[in-house]
Amino acid sequence: MGRKFFVGGNWKCNGTSEEVKKIVSTLNAGEVPSEDVVEVVVSPPFVFLSLVKSSLRPDFHVAAQNCWVKKGGAFTGEVSAEMLVNLGIPWVILGHSERRSLLNESNEFVGDKVAYALSKGLKVIACVGETLEQRESGSTMDVVAAQTKAIAERVSNWTDVVLAYEPVWAIGTGKVATPAQAQEVHFELRKWLQVNTSPEVAATTRIIYGGSVSGANCKELAAKPDVDGFLVGGASLKPEFIDIIKSAE
Ligand code: PGA
Repeated sequence: MGRKFFVGGNWKCNGTSEEVKKIVSTLNAGEVPSEDVVEVVVSPPFVFLSLVKSSLRPDFHVAAQNCWVKKGGAFTGEVSAEMLVNLGIPWVILGHSERRSLLNESNEFVGDKVAYALSKGLKVIACVGETLEQRESGSTMDVVAAQTKAIAERVSNWTDVVLAYEPVWAIGTGKVATPAQAQEVHFELRKWLQVNTSPEVAATTRIIYGGSVSGANCKELAAKPDVDGFLVGGASLKPEFIDIIKSAE
């Protein structure tokens, strides 16, 4: 099927310029598999995008953590897809659970953002995932299917989309999904794509896992057939991110 392993580092709202320079020099010195084997994308806060882009090794790429839902204009505090394109930023993370929950981004709003960003030529890491309450009530698949549907209704070409399954209860908690739990949802999501988009989209779209991924647990997760990589938060700020990239092999 040839889905290239994908490792994203989501730095969230962390770092000073000194800390960012240190992380970049650690990444630049890391010995990792070639670009043929793994695609690596790191996502610093907006204000550090240019610094990271200009100092990061050329085989790693850069993503923004968000962008505005349509063309820029009178939207104080927002950053448009056009601006990211103008800066040469190839990727954007959209629909992260922190934005869905803290900033009330709805499925539809996230779907609109994904469609607009793609239409401007950005590649998108689109995040979905259930809360603990939703998992415990047995509605995990309904929740992630509804989140994915809002994207699928607005997007026909999935070539530039990576789908990140990030259970909310696993994010930043140290409570990682078991490889079997991750595989189960990834398998179901791929099946959902097969039925609702096309067999080709289902076979080629990378579905990556996020939520307390670490150097210690990545290998077991990566061994699952429908886990095509990771979106890493906390550990992406540390040297162990290199170990996570190596789990591609
Ligand atoms: P975490 O975050 O690895 O710190 O759990 C993952 C994410 O939010 O993308």
